[in-house]
Amino acid sequence: MNHNWDVVIVGGGLSGYVAANYAARTDLSVLLLEKGKVVGGRARTNKVKQQYLNLGPHALYKNGKASTILKELNITLHGQSPKLDGNLIENNLEYPAPFTPLNLFTTKLLNGKERIEWMRLLLKIMSVNPDKLEKKTYSQWVSDVTHSKKVEQLLYTLGRLATYSHAPEKMSAKVMISHIKIATKGVLYLDGGWQTIIDQLHNKAILSGVQVQTQTAVRQIELLKEEDQVKLVTSSNEEIIAGNVIWTAGPQELEGMFLDKNISFLNEMTAIKGAALDVALSQLPIPKKLFAMDISDPLYYAVHSAYARLSENSNNVVLHVFKYHHPDEQIDSTHDNILLEQFLDKLQPGWKQYLITKRFLPHITVNQRLPQLGDKQKLSALKSSLPRIYLAGDWASSDSILAEGAVSSGKQAAEELILNEKREKRAN
Ligand SMILES: Cc1cc2nc3c(=O)[nH]c(=O)nc-3n(C[C@H](O)[C@H](O)[C@H](O)COP(=O)(O)OP(=O)(O)OC[C@H]3O[C@@H](n4cnc5c(N)ncnc54)[C@H](O)[C@@H]3O)c2cc1C
Repeated sequence: MNHNWDVVIVGGGLSGYVAANYAARTDLSVLLLEKGKVVGGRARTNKVKQQYLNLGPHALYKNGKASTILKELNITLHGQSPKLDGNLIENNLEYPAPFTPLNLFTTKLLNGKERIEWMRLLLKIMSVNPDKLEKKTYSQWVSDVTHSKKVEQLLYTLGRLATYSHAPEKMSAKVMISHIKIATKGVLYLDGGWQTIIDQLHNKAILSGVQVQTQTAVRQIELLKEEDQVKLVTSSNEEIIAGNVIWTAGPQELEGMFLDKNISFLNEMTAIKGAALDVALSQLPIPKKLFAMDISDPLYYAVHSAYARLSENSNNVVLHVFKYHHPDEQIDSTHDNILLEQFLDKLQPGWKQYLITKRFLPHITVNQRLPQLGDKQKLSALKSSLPRIYLAGDWASSDSILAEGAVSSGKQAAEELILNEKREKRAN
């Protein structure tokens, strides 16, 4: 392998591949290193017994930054948007979810006063400018806008649905509201799963000359004298010299990379996590029941194959059940597995007779950073303390998370790098 590159990208997930595709539009030499055997990171889809299982429920915002950037890179996004109806559960009783105009007026989940308040708040969310909420947590914003316990529960449920965050008292209102705004414009479930995005990004990157090396973990980074090059050491003690590095792996791992730097913010970050139960069935006991969330317990259920092709056999069903973890919670995996199966028992009694395959992921990181107040300043201080190292990934953007953050920060890192390279060339 060549040991001298203009750009080395660490991590072969969504962010790394988006960065690679933008960097490859120039004449810079680009190497992408991925520690896993396969690429894709958390956007991987596993084919199990002819069923396509994403790592937990994955829905791409239809009108967000990620889909815009992916389209700009000529990535095709095949799939359909789920309908917004479905049920919300309170004290074991199911009610139509007040997310569609019809359900809004008819659901018995809300009394007259709550119904009007909920409608008012949905309109408010559409019109509010998230930038004005920079100094508030989501729970502060919620307590400013409603005194109704039920409406508060609905706002928290909508927040979990849009961002997977179950810590409203920590979560930035700005990030939460901006994501709810995009989520309510619709999402896409993708045919073949999110792997189809990764495969297209990978193929385009290779055709544009990017070299991809799997099973190569970076374990140390050192800024060389005069700060014009970076040395990376891999797990097999290979040394690679790079003009620039785009780091898209996790923040905690980055903390341990440098011999000479102590970056406490990286360690302070809390991730958004959850437990996922991914299930494939030969049929659904109750075919019409496609979506449900509990409003007091942080539980989610959705049948993704009702809208996307996720099986080699179109009669089969792929669904996801999910528990949103609180960051301070002590995780009991056995309990969570039982809880998710019981939730599914209630919604689809007898599902186990039709089981093709199931997979339980007890403690999966959905987003590497739970956005909190003051993160913007800390992130920008962190970025400027690491010359020649560009940060990307779902934790590295101050205003976006999930695929929105991963994709937009990947593009931004590549563009900043290209601009700096041009400036340097002009200066020399
Ligand atoms: C259960 C679940 C549900 C989700 N649902 C949604 C959703 O509905 N909508 C949405 O927008 N997003 C969703 N996401 C989030 C989305 O999948 C991620 O935000 C996105 O895939 C992250 O991409 P990334 O490139 O930032 O990180 P990753 O995918 O984690 O990629 C980082 C890569 O770096 C590699 N790596 C790590 N350390 C090293 C090292 N030292 N050297 C080399 N390589 C290294 C890793 O192996 C990995 O492949 C969900 C995630 C999960 C887990």
